[in-house]
Amino acid sequence: NRHWVLTDRPKGGNFEQVLSLREEPAPEPGPGEYRVRTIYLSLDPTNAVWMQYDSYLPAVPLNSTMRGLVLGVVDKSNHEKVKVGDLVSGMGGWADYTITDGKNFGRVPNIPGLPLVAFMGPLGMTGATAYFGLLDIGKPKEGETVVVSAAAGAVGSMVGQIAKLKGCRVVGIAGGPEKCAWLTGELGFDAAVDYKAEGWRKALRAACPKGVDVYFENVGGEVGEAVLDLINIKGRIAFCGAISQYNATQPQPGPRNLSILVSRRARMEGFLVLDYNPRLGEMYQEMGPWIAGGKVKWKVDLDQGLENTITSFKKLFTGGNTGKLAVQVSEE
Ligand code: NDP
Repeated sequence: NRHWVLTDRPKGGNFEQVLSLREEPAPEPGPGEYRVRTIYLSLDPTNAVWMQYDSYLPAVPLNSTMRGLVLGVVDKSNHEKVKVGDLVSGMGGWADYTITDGKNFGRVPNIPGLPLVAFMGPLGMTGATAYFGLLDIGKPKEGETVVVSAAAGAVGSMVGQIAKLKGCRVVGIAGGPEKCAWLTGELGFDAAVDYKAEGWRKALRAACPKGVDVYFENVGGEVGEAVLDLINIKGRIAFCGAISQYNATQPQPGPRNLSILVSRRARMEGFLVLDYNPRLGEMYQEMGPWIAGGKVKWKVDLDQGLENTITSFKKLFTGGNTGKLAVQVSEE
């Protein structure tokens, strides 16, 4: 059982200095437990937070296996309801194997015609974040303008397409011309703004001639501030994340224009996908056919081998990934 052990709290994104790959015999499940062989390991920006401090989950204890979302197959079971060969996903580790009593795991639903990896991306935690965050918190109405940042990433690419299906004008903000071309060319976004290009604030304003009704915030910092300037009266900001700040070594200042929420009578609300676990069925029902029928396109940026996890993980913070980042740890 190869597994990544967290030996210290990272500072400024020095992940290779605080994680070390160890190997020991595969653990055995105890009474009522089962063992999951990791097939796909999800790499998520929030993993960097888990390494550093207590948040909505406690920080990963030092000298223990790094926590991560896994999708895998049960290869040994002492659990009365779970048998060898079952496909499950849940909170495991950056490891070949996870032992669980099943509390943090669920069965991968059976939707014919979809590859297994779809349940790591568009129909996994990523899809749920986009779906519930946009619809439940952002509440977009037909004809409104929806802006999403980290738009070519896992969550952002889903958000924009769902908003299009709900009849909105959709503007994505992403780093680099290739990502922007993917958004408007392949995914059907109405406009894309490259926040790394000169004059991007002006381009953003031009792309939102009627202002912004819903902003799906993934990055925070300057990008968030620029969108806030354009928020309309009664606008909604679904606060999903702030990746630009996850590796900061000092607390970051909030948006300097926050008081605009007053004059625009706008609302900013954070949410956690974990709270929507009881409602996942709603997502499968609406998104399942969109994904299976190709109405929502998706991409999993899949790297190979548990040993390459850190190199892969760092892509999240440099913009090296397009779509959902994951590592294939073993064969399906
Ligand atoms: P992504 O696939 O979007 O990957 C992260 C992307 O963020 C990168 O590809 C990069 O794209 C962009 N990025 C990185 N650093 C910066 C920066 N300094 N400024 C602007 N953009 C940056 O990741 P996810 O889709 O998994 O996550 C997106 C956001 O959603 C994160 O904030 C994450 O924490 C949050 N999240 C929240 C959940 C919740 O329950 N609230 C659940 C899941 C995710 P680019 O090339 O465009 O810069």
